[in-house]
Amino acid sequence: MKLIFHGAAREVGRSCIELVTQDGSFIFDCGIKMDPEGLQYPQRMDDLTGVKAVFLSHAHLDHTGALPLLKHNDSKVKVFCTKGTARVTDILLNDSYRIDLIKHHHPAYTQLDIKALEDQMIFLPYRKQVEEFGMKIEFFNSGHIPGSCSIKVNVEGTNILYTGDINTEDTELVMPADTNYGDVDVLIVESTYGNREHEPREEVEEKFIDHIVKTTRRGGNVLIPVFGVGRAQEILLILNKYHFEVPIYLDGMARKVTDIMINNCMNLRDPAKIRTAYRSVREIRNKNMREIVMRQRGIFLTTSGMIEGGPIISYLKRFHNDKNSSLLMTGYQCEGTNGRMILEEGYAFLDGLKAKIRMEYQKYDFSAHAGMTDLHNLILKVKPKKVIINHGDEDEVLALQDWCAKNTKSKVYAPKLNDNIEL
Ligand SMILES: [Zn+2]
Repeated sequence: MKLIFHGAAREVGRSCIELVTQDGSFIFDCGIKMDPEGLQYPQRMDDLTGVKAVFLSHAHLDHTGALPLLKHNDSKVKVFCTKGTARVTDILLNDSYRIDLIKHHHPAYTQLDIKALEDQMIFLPYRKQVEEFGMKIEFFNSGHIPGSCSIKVNVEGTNILYTGDINTEDTELVMPADTNYGDVDVLIVESTYGNREHEPREEVEEKFIDHIVKTTRRGGNVLIPVFGVGRAQEILLILNKYHFEVPIYLDGMARKVTDIMINNCMNLRDPAKIRTAYRSVREIRNKNMREIVMRQRGIFLTTSGMIEGGPIISYLKRFHNDKNSSLLMTGYQCEGTNGRMILEEGYAFLDGLKAKIRMEYQKYDFSAHAGMTDLHNLILKVKPKKVIINHGDEDEVLALQDWCAKNTKSKVYAPKLNDNIEL
C-alpha cells in the first residue's frame, strides 16, 4: 500500500492524494491551483484508470476544483462527501466556471460535467462508519468551514486519517474540530500555519471593528473582500454583534451559499443566529443595485476574498482613490493575487490596468486553519506512527517536520510533488 502526492505537496493548492491499495486507488480531494500560468490540475485527473472512489474533505476549490474532470474523462467513480460539501461545491464550481471564462482561463471541462457530478455523489454524515470497497470509511467534523470533514479510512489493517483543512479553535460559525478519531497509524496533516501562531481572535476582532468605526466616522466606505464559503458568514456573524451608523451590504455568491449552509451543514454553531445575521444585511442582487448603493455610504461585504474577480472589483474601482475609505482583507492572500499585490506593493490590476490603491488597506487574520500550537497539540494527541505533512508553503511544512522530529516518536514525511510513500 502506498500514498502518491499529486498536489498540495509543499504548496497550498490542488490538494490531491492517491491511496494505492491491492484493490485499486482512492483519491483524497481533487483541487485546483491558480497561478500566473493559469489553472493547474493534478496530473492524475488526466487518466483515472484504477481509481475506485474519491473522498472530499470540503468545498473549497483548492480541494474540489478538478472534480468535473471525473465526468469529463468518463470516470463514473463515486464521490464521498458530506451533504453540505456537495451542495456548496455545486455553487462554487458553477461560479468559478463563469469567472474563469470571463478571465479567459478556459477550464478543462464543460458546465454539463459539473451538473452530472451530482449523480456520483454519496453523502456521509459525521461519525457514521460505512464499509465499502473492503475498507471502513468515517468522517469527523474538521471545524474549518460548514460541512468540512477529516476522513478516516481503515484499509489492509491500517488506520489512515486525512485532516483536510482543520481548525481546532472555536469560531462564530462552526464548532471546533472533533479530534476523537480513535486509533490512527498514519496522519496526513495540513500545515498552512505550521510555523505561525494566530493573534488571539478577540484582539483581531476588536481592531477590525475599530477600523470599521473609524472609517465610517470620517465619512468613508468599508470594503471587505471575503471568501464566499465560510469567511463571508463568519464576518457577517461578527458584524451583527455591533451597531454601525451605516448599513451593511452583502454582494456576490456568498448570498446563495449562506442559505444552503443553514439547511445542509451539520457543524454550524447556531443556524438561527446565522439566519438573523443574514436578514439584518441588505442584499445586492444585480448590477443596477450595486451602482445605486455605491453612491451611498456603507460597509460592503463581497467576493472574491483575494480580489481576483467578483463584485469586489467594481467596488475597488470606485473607491480605490478615496483616502477616507478602507479595504479590510480577512484571510490568506495567495502569491500572484491582487490581494497580495496590494499588501506588498500597494497596487492592484483593475480591468488590466495597474492602479495605485490610495484608500487605507489592512489585513486581519480571521483564518479558519489551526495555528502552530494547535497543530502540535493535535499531533501529540493522535500519536500516529507516521506523520505526513501537506498543504503548506515549504517553510511551514519544513518547520512542522522539524518540530515533529524533535518532539514526537512518529516517523515524519514532507513529500514533494509526485513523491510516493510506502505504508
Ligand atoms: Zn479550505
